[in-house]
Amino acid sequence: MAEVTLSHVRKVYPNGAVAVEDFDLTIRDREFLVLVGPSGCGKSTTLRMVAGLEEISSGTISIDGQVVNALPPKARDIAMVFQNYALYPHMTVKENMAFGLKLRHTPKREIEQRIDEAAEVLGLKPYLSRLPKQLSGGQRQRVALGRAIVRQPKVFLFDEPLSNLDAKMRVEMREEIHRLHLRLNATILYVTHDQTEAMTLGDRIVVMEHGRIRQVADPVTLYNEPANAFAAGFIGTPPMNLLPMEVVAPGVLQCGAGTLTLPAGNGGADLASGQKVLMGIRPEHLMAACLEREEANTLLAEVDIIEQMGAEAYVHFKIDNVRLTARTTPDWAVRHGQRRWLRLQLEKIRLFDPRNGQRL
Ligand code: ADP
Repeated sequence: MAEVTLSHVRKVYPNGAVAVEDFDLTIRDREFLVLVGPSGCGKSTTLRMVAGLEEISSGTISIDGQVVNALPPKARDIAMVFQNYALYPHMTVKENMAFGLKLRHTPKREIEQRIDEAAEVLGLKPYLSRLPKQLSGGQRQRVALGRAIVRQPKVFLFDEPLSNLDAKMRVEMREEIHRLHLRLNATILYVTHDQTEAMTLGDRIVVMEHGRIRQVADPVTLYNEPANAFAAGFIGTPPMNLLPMEVVAPGVLQCGAGTLTLPAGNGGADLASGQKVLMGIRPEHLMAACLEREEANTLLAEVDIIEQMGAEAYVHFKIDNVRLTARTTPDWAVRHGQRRWLRLQLEKIRLFDPRNGQRL
C-alpha cells in the first residue's frame, strides 16, 4: 500500500471557478482519510485530481513517492468507487468483478483466485452468477466494492459511495467498509458530505469549506477541539451551539440572556473587555437540568421544540434569534414556550472570533 502526497494543489476550472485552494497534505500509508464538507467545497475535485480524472492547475500529487501529475488514471494504480457504481447490466456479478482484470490481461487463474477472496470478504459468494438487476441496492454496492478490491490497488478512492442507499443499508455498508479497511490494510481516501460517516470511518478527517482545508484531525480531537467555528458547527449531530457574547471583564462573558464566568485556564482570561466572541458549547454540555429560577452562570432561554429520539431527546431553545440545542434524557419535562435558565458545563466552552471564526 502507499502514501499519497498532495503538495500545494490548486484547481481552477476553465470558467474561472477556484474549486480547490492550496491543498497540502500527506495521506499516510494505510490511513483512512475522509474529506468532509458541504456541497461545492471541493471534495470531489480533490479526489478526482488524485484519480487523474481532473487536471491539476498547480502543485504536485505523488503516490508512493512517484509524482503522478502527468500519468493517466489507469497508470496510477488506484481503484475508485463512486456513488453511481454503474455495473454492467448484462454481466453477472463475477463477470463484473473480472472485467477490469481481463482488460489488464491478468492470468485467468489469478482472476479466479482474487474474485474468490473478494467474494468471501464481501459475502458475495452466493450471488456470483446473478445479474445486477437480481440484487438489492446494498448487494450491488458490494459488487462495486468487489470490483475495486480485486484490482489490489495501492490506493482506494471512494466518492460518496453510500449516498444512494437507504438509511439502514448505509449503516450496514459503513460497517462493512470499516471492516474492509481493517482487513485490507489499505490506504483510503473517502469523500462524503455526511459528518457521521466521516466521524465513524476516518482515522483522520479533513474538514473543507470553499475549496480550503479548515481543519485536519482525528475524530475525537476534531470534536473536542475544533479549530474554528466552521468545523465546530459542521461536526456533531446536533452540532456545537454558537452564541454571540461579549467579554465584559477577564474571563467573564455576557449577552442579553445572562453572564458566564469561565473557569481559570479556559483561555477567556486573555481577552480584552469589549471583545465580541462566539461562545461554543456542545449540546451534551448544556446540563441536563434546567432551572426555573435564576442562578449564577446561567442563560435565560425559551423552549422552542423538543425532538424525541427514544434514548435521548434534543431540546431546542431560543435566545434572541439564536437556536441552542441541549442533548438530554428523554424524560426531561419542558414544554414549548417555557422560559428556563440553562446551566452550562463551563470548562467545555470553546471561544471563537466572530470576525474570522478562528478559535480564541
Ligand atoms: P464537492 O465535491 O465538495 O461537492 P466539487 O469538487 O464537486 O465539490 O466542486 C467544487 C467547486 O467547483 C464548486 O463550486 C463547483 O461548482 C465547481 N465545479 C465542479 N466541477 C466543475 C466544472 N467541471 N466546471 C466548473 N466548475 C466546477
